[in-house]
Amino acid sequence: MKKVFSDFDGTLTNNGKLGAVFFDLLNLIEANQSELIIVSGRSLSWGHFLLTHFPLKHVIMEGGGVILSRNKEGQIVEEVLVYDEDVVELENFTQRLIKEIPEVVLSADSFGRKTDRAIEFSQMKASDVKKVNEYLTKNNISHSRSNVHINYWVGDISKSSGVKHFLKHYAPHIDHDQTIFYGDALNDESMFRDFQNSVGVSNIMSVLDKLKHKPSIILEGKENAGANGVFHHLKEVFDSSVDF
Ligand SMILES: [Mg+2]
Repeated sequence: MKKVFSDFDGTLTNNGKLGAVFFDLLNLIEANQSELIIVSGRSLSWGHFLLTHFPLKHVIMEGGGVILSRNKEGQIVEEVLVYDEDVVELENFTQRLIKEIPEVVLSADSFGRKTDRAIEFSQMKASDVKKVNEYLTKNNISHSRSNVHINYWVGDISKSSGVKHFLKHYAPHIDHDQTIFYGDALNDESMFRDFQNSVGVSNIMSVLDKLKHKPSIILEGKENAGANGVFHHLKEVFDSSVDF
C-alpha cells in the first residue's frame, strides 16, 4: 500500500479527540514506506495546521477543493481545484443564505475556507437544518454532510475528484490499487464509489443505510471505531503479503 488516504474527523480521531493511536499510525505508515494523505472536509487553514505540526507532505482539504503541500524549500503551497468565479459565486450565495435564513450557523472556521463553507448543524434546530437543506437543493448548490458539518460549495468538488487529481499530478506512478481509503461519513461516499480499496471504520454503522455506495470493507466492533479501526486494519494489510 503506497498511499494511505484517510478522512480526519471520526476516522483518525476517537470520540472527537486525537489520541496516541494516531501517532502509532503515523509510525506504522512510515515504517512501511507508505504515506498518509488526510482527505478532510475541514478548512484550508486546518490544512496548514496539519502540515505544520505533523510529518505529512500533502493534505487534501475542504472536501477535495484544495491540495496543500510542503515544497522543497519547506514552504506550504496551495493548489485550488475550483475556478475563481466559483469562489466568488460561493461568497455571493452565502450572503443570500444568511439573509434568507438568519438561523443558519456557519462554522467558526468558515472564515478560513476558500472553496466551500460549513454549517454547524448540531447547533441548530432540526427544522432550521431542514430549511437550509431545502434552500441549498432549490438553488442547485452541492452539499454533503460529514459527522461534524454540512458543507456546501460551487463547482465540481468531491473527495474523490481531489484524490484523483492528486494521484494524476502528484503521484503519477501510483496505481489506484496501491492506495487505500478510510472513512466514516456521508461525505466519504465519492471515495467509496470510485476506489475499490475502501474501508469504513465501525462508527460508520450509524449512516450506513443512507449510503448508496458503501465501502468495500466495513469494520465491526467498538475496538474498530475511528483511529483504532484504521490502525488495526492497516497493520493487517501491511503484515500480510497481499496488497489488500
Ligand atoms: Mg468523518
